[in-house]
Amino acid sequence: MGTALLKKMVEGLFPRLCVGCGLAREGGGEHLCPLCQDYIELIAEPHCQTCGIPAEIDYEYPTEDFQCGLCQKATFHFDRVRSLGIYDSVLKRLIHFFKYRKQPGAIQEIKPLLKSHFQNDAQAYEGFHVVSVPLHFNKLKERGFDQSFVLAQAVAQVLNLPILVRPISRIRETPPQAKQSRAERAKNVCGAFQVMPPEGVAGKDVLLVDDVMTTGSTVNEVARVLKRAGTHCVHVFTLARA
Ligand SMILES: [Zn+2]
Ligand SMILES: [Zn+2]
Repeated sequence: MGTALLKKMVEGLFPRLCVGCGLAREGGGEHLCPLCQDYIELIAEPHCQTCGIPAEIDYEYPTEDFQCGLCQKATFHFDRVRSLGIYDSVLKRLIHFFKYRKQPGAIQEIKPLLKSHFQNDAQAYEGFHVVSVPLHFNKLKERGFDQSFVLAQAVAQVLNLPILVRPISRIRETPPQAKQSRAERAKNVCGAFQVMPPEGVAGKDVLLVDDVMTTGSTVNEVARVLKRAGTHCVHVFTLARA
């Protein structure tokens, strides 16, 4: 029997299901059907030039250097944040599949999205070093892989940038942040990270990568320790923005 026929028979018995809609799928990518691939809500201009959040054009009047209300008041340690899409529907399910159902292979579905996200913005990262937001060792043991590092590797590959392997460590385990307020989250991550050794990042420009940004307290705290260790510029990229 030919391998093509065998493959067809196996697919008939075990249809490949789309991670986005749960239906049997044909075509599309590694894990999403073509409809769900199109359904990912990408963040486009106008967005805040600092934190990257889309402008609410119902009542905001975005200009070229538009800053959201929060960024006008707050001072962050990172220089800017850009996120690929909104943490909702298909992208949220894809990230859950990647992170909680422990499927590092989902990065194959994410890579083409990264390519299109960075195609117009690659120049902004020239000379940068890619760094991932670290997991605590206990979490790494529990999950079996470090999803931010896998994502950072893909970003480094797409942008053709060097990656620094774990220059930062999470020295304190932090409770899950899902149900916490902005103030609680900031307190929660304070003092959780350490740069080691500081010479590794001193004077460099860093592109800090994480999967999801909610209030930004995690990336802000990592940016703070990086800056204290002498990092020049900290740009942040997250796959999704909650
Ligand atoms: Zn689907
Ligand atoms: Zn902002």
